Amino acid sequence: MYTFGFYTLLGLTSATPCAVLVGTGVAAGYGLLIKGGDVLEKMQSVNTVVFDKTGTITSGDAKLSSIETLLATDHAVMQNLPNEVNANNFVLWLACVAELNSEHPIGQAIVDAGKAIWGDDIPRSKHGVSLEKFNAVPGNGVECVLQSAVWGAYGVRVGKREWAKAALREDVVVAPDDDATGDEEVEAMRRRGAIAVYVSFWNCRVPSQKRIVAGVLGVNDPVKPEALSTVRALQQMGIDVWMCTGDSSMTALAVADKVGIRPENVIAGVSPSGKGEMVSELQQEVLMPCRTLCFWKPAQRTVAMVADGVNDAVALAKSDVGFAIGAGTEVAVEAADVVLVKSNLQDVVVALHLSSVVFRRILLNLCCAMAYNVCALPFAAGLFTPFTDFRLPPAAAGFMMAISSVSVVTSSLLLRTYRKPDICEDGKLGRMPAKSSSTSHQNLIRSQKYSGLPSSEIEIV
Ligand code: ADP
Ligand code: MG
Repeated sequence: MYTFGFYTLLGLTSATPCAVLVGTGVAAGYGLLIKGGDVLEKMQSVNTVVFDKTGTITSGDAKLSSIETLLATDHAVMQNLPNEVNANNFVLWLACVAELNSEHPIGQAIVDAGKAIWGDDIPRSKHGVSLEKFNAVPGNGVECVLQSAVWGAYGVRVGKREWAKAALREDVVVAPDDDATGDEEVEAMRRRGAIAVYVSFWNCRVPSQKRIVAGVLGVNDPVKPEALSTVRALQQMGIDVWMCTGDSSMTALAVADKVGIRPENVIAGVSPSGKGEMVSELQQEVLMPCRTLCFWKPAQRTVAMVADGVNDAVALAKSDVGFAIGAGTEVAVEAADVVLVKSNLQDVVVALHLSSVVFRRILLNLCCAMAYNVCALPFAAGLFTPFTDFRLPPAAAGFMMAISSVSVVTSSLLLRTYRKPDICEDGKLGRMPAKSSSTSHQNLIRSQKYSGLPSSEIEIV
């Protein structure tokens, strides 16, 4: 009787870990690295997903699209420029030098454009220019000091407008100037969804000098092809989709519009710590009745954050489930609970779908194990012996005890037959077509036709 009770408990307690273990393995097969079984359990109650913009919704494969020079050509710094640097490309050159050691997609786009002009010697070290004190400030940009035998030491900042234009010293009040601002050009860039990157410089030897904006670069970062279908699929699952970015609101709204995120769910101009605060605030909110993936409707929001950058680490750590883009920074991958190894946004949908399937399997396991044990316990306790003279043979009792656990394990192992849903362009989830042998045969015929190789030398993938 006691032994049977022990096995009953064993069957019930193995219902959850078995399913979670198999579910984690299945997820790994689809390129989802889940750090712990509790994450899979938490995922099924997610009802809010917050996407970062740059490098997450956008591809991170950014390209320089425009250069606006705001500095007068007769400015002292424009004199004695290094070889192959002139008034037309001076802004790009300053930005390239500052971004040389940057990991950010914006930095890489700027450096790529510079390499096309100056090759591998962007700082023009052969002309006596050297680079010092590189500093990347997450969510703002990069800065460095340029040393030149001709001009001396110049500080350079590349990034957000407020940061690039910030006063050099709080105790020195700089009079408002009539410098060109390029506001109209910047607005046009942002309306197209491009990122406006400000380039400023200052003379390090003159402490009272202000930062001078040399120009603005437009960087185009295209939206990932699967972003729209992912957002639609999540919305159809009843999930509230948000976007949070350190970029300007105009660019953010243009990108949100392309992927179907409602403008009221877009939070722009947020600092790295601000992103964390935003996630905490959302977690405190009581959600209006909303269909969720699980069977009950939690009153509080359960927030998943999907992001790629150093500046997202706080938000990833604070969220209930943090998803890091595999191609993102190491810091983001470390801080997240799930890594999207293939960097495909649709895998967020797959992860949430799989977690709901695993959760349902856990419930099924628990119900079956409970029902089985409730039925079998009276036999084991000898409840019918006084009336029917029936006694359970010890071998049969042992067999029945084992069956309880075996059924739970088998039911969990059946999760291995899970096939990820096919996500249509309109966000609808369909069945993934099974690979049929006839398809493989057709592929073989097609490969033969185009390669001219005999069938024995062609490998079917
Ligand atoms: P997101 O939050 O969308 O991922 P980031 O936080 O990475 O965006 O960047 C926010 C803003 O900070 C960018 O739009 C850009 O203006 C500025 N920025 C950040 N890093 C850089 C960089 N390396 N070079 C230039 N600008 C940068
Ligand atoms: Mg980012």
